[in-house]
Amino acid sequence: MQLRKGDSDGDLAGWVDLRSDTVTQPTAAMRAAMATADVGDDVYGEDPSVNALQARLADELGFDAALFVPTGTQSNLLAMLVHCQRGDEYLVGMDAHTYKYEGGGAAVLGSIQPQPIAHAADGSLPLDVVEAAIKPVDPHFARTRLLCLENTWHGRVMSQEYLAAARELCDRRGLALHLDGARMYNAAVASGVAPREIARHFDSVSVCLSKGLGAPVGSVLLGTRALIDEARRWRKVCGGGMRQAGILAAAAWHALDHHVERLADDHARAARLADGLRGLGAIAVTAQHTNMVFIDVPTERLEALRRHLEAARVRVAIGYTPKVRLVTHLDVDDAGVQRTIDAFAGFAAQSA
Ligand SMILES: *Cc1c(COP(=O)(O)O)cnc(C)c1O
Repeated sequence: MQLRKGDSDGDLAGWVDLRSDTVTQPTAAMRAAMATADVGDDVYGEDPSVNALQARLADELGFDAALFVPTGTQSNLLAMLVHCQRGDEYLVGMDAHTYKYEGGGAAVLGSIQPQPIAHAADGSLPLDVVEAAIKPVDPHFARTRLLCLENTWHGRVMSQEYLAAARELCDRRGLALHLDGARMYNAAVASGVAPREIARHFDSVSVCLSKGLGAPVGSVLLGTRALIDEARRWRKVCGGGMRQAGILAAAAWHALDHHVERLADDHARAARLADGLRGLGAIAVTAQHTNMVFIDVPTERLEALRRHLEAARVRVAIGYTPKVRLVTHLDVDDAGVQRTIDAFAGFAAQSA
């Protein structure tokens, strides 16, 4: 991990933190961009930096309008609140963020019922299963309105063919289609498909600036003007109307200018990390896609792993599904990858 001058938390020194790509520190250049941002009251629509960011992303991703929001969870929630009314239903992956990792927000706050669908081995939702889950029009059933997809999902890129087939299904069956694109830029960089080519299949898209792109805060929801106007209303209701948010939008702008292409470095490091761990023989690497590596460690060894890695000042996500996840990002360099492999080598030797 690189440490920068001005990092106030000395405790970060020397740690390789692979728990998530959300742990990045804003770079000095990003902080400088934030410090000089023009700002206004965004609830009045008067923050020039927020307005510029929204216009830029709408233009780049091929939508009428965009809305800057504090989190990806809120961005997805707003989309669901706009696409669905009370008593409606959305179809979603059983291990999708919009089902499993958002506190049940659509149900809790929108009275919207999720219909979870089991993922195929490649992470996609089999479209015949999706179609069979659409409820008949009958008072017994919730009204199926929306399909939510995620790309990347556990680091996996959904193919353009799959997304086009999902679009065709939604058109044929009268459903809206939302993308949780928290890591859509990872998908774009990994596949060489332009972000707007991924986005064009969807009625609404949520992108996170605070994951691999390295901004401290912020996601953007994209859609039609009408959808975004409704989402802006719900954003206020949810307490997400921010004031001089241009300071954050400036960080997001900087991230889009400087941190998109370099996602390829994260992907290459994740591949090297997976290769290195496989090379140890004793560590079961179950998957590596884009910036994520998953490994399987016997449950009874997880606490020992956590302690071993902690002593080596390496952090990984333990207790996630699959059980152990390692995510590369802006603040993990080649030395960090090597230290992680070495730490696992030590653990493997100790376990043997
Ligand atoms: C991180 C993430 C989100 C949004 O998370 P926030 O922490 O609320 O910004 C949404 N979907 C996926 C797949 C994510 O990884």
